Amino acid sequence: MNIILLGPPGAGKGTQAKILERKYGMIQLSTGDMLRAAVAAGTPLGRKVKELMDSGGLVSDDIMISLIGERISQPDCARGCILDGFPRTTAQAEALDKMLAERGLKIDHVIEMKVDEDALVKRITGRYTCAKCGEGYHDEFKRPKKEGVCDVCGSTEFVRRPDDNPETVKARLAAYREQTAPILPFYREKGILRTVDGMASMEEVSRQIEAVLNGN
Ligand code: AMP
Repeated sequence: MNIILLGPPGAGKGTQAKILERKYGMIQLSTGDMLRAAVAAGTPLGRKVKELMDSGGLVSDDIMISLIGERISQPDCARGCILDGFPRTTAQAEALDKMLAERGLKIDHVIEMKVDEDALVKRITGRYTCAKCGEGYHDEFKRPKKEGVCDVCGSTEFVRRPDDNPETVKARLAAYREQTAPILPFYREKGILRTVDGMASMEEVSRQIEAVLNGN
């Protein structure tokens, strides 16, 4: 089964993708994570996209389509994938359909995570992750049980994304509104789009997503 989690930055796509990955053994394909890895490694791709990512704009469709195309053709993706952060434009959505069809695959469900935009800035600017295991935390909503120590792996190092600052978040929300939200009708017409309440608790959102996957 291949699914797309669609929603603005901070909607909880990454969190839910990780839950699904753990529970069902599906593979999370986060284009944001792939790009951040390229930036951290200083590859030519990373050097090319860094400034754009820091400003909250979208990386070109050509780059993104070839990046996901390479990843999707790897054997582990046959277990089913959860696309998190891709597609973000109509051109990407159309290219994805084509790439999957060439491999005899398709998107089974597109899950829109609906959230209140005002809450997003607060959600995003307070978030950080463990530098070692990637567990997510939040200044207000999810602090480690012991201050400064990761609940999962005990590490004391944490990182914040450079694009999780108020100005960049506003640009990222605008990019979602103007370039990504317009792809919703594309999936609605195919009859595979379902909406969940991204403002609910993490557990409740997870239940709503599972209900969609189970065809309820
Ligand atoms: P994310 O982690 O999904 O919020 O992505 C972080 C940043 O990576 C975005 O603000 C974009 O600059 C870039 N990015 C990630 N995925 C895509 C995509 N599918 N198309 C264009 N840019 C992307």
